Amino acid sequence: MPREEAERQAAEERERAKRERRCPECTNKTFGEDSEMLAPDLYYHRGCIKCALCSRQPDNETSIIMAARETDDVFAPEILDPYCKFCYAKKFKTSAIKIADIVEIAPELGFCI
Ligand SMILES: [Zn+2]
Ligand SMILES: [Zn+2]
Repeated sequence: MPREEAERQAAEERERAKRERRCPECTNKTFGEDSEMLAPDLYYHRGCIKCALCSRQPDNETSIIMAARETDDVFAPEILDPYCKFCYAKKFKTSAIKIADIVEIAPELGFCI
């Protein structure tokens, strides 16, 4: 399959998943109470929310922050992954205090349950 075709299919797949409110982690559909919206149109089951790097799940101490997945292709569509604040801090070389600010200034980027 040519690369463009594969990319187009992947993009369509993501759009459909959004429309159907499929959890990016387990790909099953989410329904109201069992899920949280971590980013616009991106629903995760509560049990499926975990850090993309260390698999830590959110708790009182640990907020989960959505961040764009790194890719070599600058034209690639943005794919968001959840990170715990510790991994987020490491990945983006910031501090946990700054992250508290981020969550306050741009709540759509930060997520706490
Ligand atoms: Zn799930
Ligand atoms: Zn982590």
